[in-house]
Amino acid sequence: MSRIVFLNGSFLPIDEAKVPFMDRGFMFGDGVYEGIGVLNGRLVDNEAHLERLERSLKEIQIPNPYSRAEWTRLEEELVRRNNMTEGFVYFQVTRGVAERDFFFPTDARPTVAMFTQAKSIANAPAAEAGISVITVPDMRWERRDIKSINLLAQVLAKQAAKEAGAQEAWMVQDGYVTEGGSSSAFIVTKAGSIVVRPLSNAILPGITRKSLLQMSREDGIVLEERLFTVNEAYDAAEAFLTSASNFVVPVVRIDGRPVADGKPGPVTKRLRQLYLQMAAGPALAAE
Ligand code: PMP
Repeated sequence: MSRIVFLNGSFLPIDEAKVPFMDRGFMFGDGVYEGIGVLNGRLVDNEAHLERLERSLKEIQIPNPYSRAEWTRLEEELVRRNNMTEGFVYFQVTRGVAERDFFFPTDARPTVAMFTQAKSIANAPAAEAGISVITVPDMRWERRDIKSINLLAQVLAKQAAKEAGAQEAWMVQDGYVTEGGSSSAFIVTKAGSIVVRPLSNAILPGITRKSLLQMSREDGIVLEERLFTVNEAYDAAEAFLTSASNFVVPVVRIDGRPVADGKPGPVTKRLRQLYLQMAAGPALAAE
C-alpha cells in the first residue's frame, strides 16, 4: 500500500501530492510545523501540540486553517489510513502560493501538508543504550520559540553530530546549552535534581518537556529551571533529551566524554517509564 498523505483538503498517495513551485514554504521557508508522537495508534499530547501550533501561526501572522477538532480529525484519519500504530505525525502550514516577493501576499491561502512516519519509539534501541551528543555553537535566529520550518542551522548541527559518530547536537550560546537540534536538553545533578533551561525566545517550548516537568513534579523530583553550562553537563550525574518522536532518551556521552559511568541513569529511566505509561494511554497503562 502506498503511503497516504494529506495535502490541502485531500488524502492522496504520496506520489500524487504536489506542492506548487511558488509555494512560500519552498521559496522562503515561510511557514511553521508540528510533530506529534503516536503510540498504540494514539496521538500523544495532541492538544498541547495544537496549542503551540496556534501560537506559532499567530506569531508569523498566518491564519489557522482549521480548528483544534478539525486538526485532530485529520491527524487521526491519516494515522488510520496508514495503519500506523507507532511513529509520528508531521504537518506544516506555509503562507501559501504567490509570485516571489517578500511582502505577505494578499490573496494566498495557507498550504497544509501532513504525513506520517512509522517508527519504533517505545522499544527503540537508543532508548535502552543511550546516545552520544556533541556540542556546537547555536547559530539560529532570535525567535526559536516559533516552530519555524527554517531548520538550516539544525540540519548543519545534526550532520556535524553524525559525522562525529553522535546522534544529536546540543547547541550552545554564551557557554550555556540552549537545546538539541530537534530535542530539549536536560541534565540531572549529583543530588538528583533535574536541570532544564527555562522557556524564552532562545528555545522551542518542547511539548514533551512540558509533560515531563509536570510528571516530575508529581513524582516529587526536584526541578531546577535554569541555564546550565557545557562543563556542568560533562560533570552531571545523568543527561537526557526529550522530543515528541523519541519521548525520553538517555544521553551517555557528551563530546566523547562519558556522562558519569556512561550508562543510562536511574532518574532518566524512571522518567522514561513515566512518560511511556502516560503515552500508552489510561486503558493500556492500567493492564
Ligand atoms: N527543540 C527543538 C529545536 C526541536 O526541534 C524539538 C522537536 N521538534 C524539540 C525541542 C522538542 O519538542 P517536542 O517535545 O515538542 O517535540
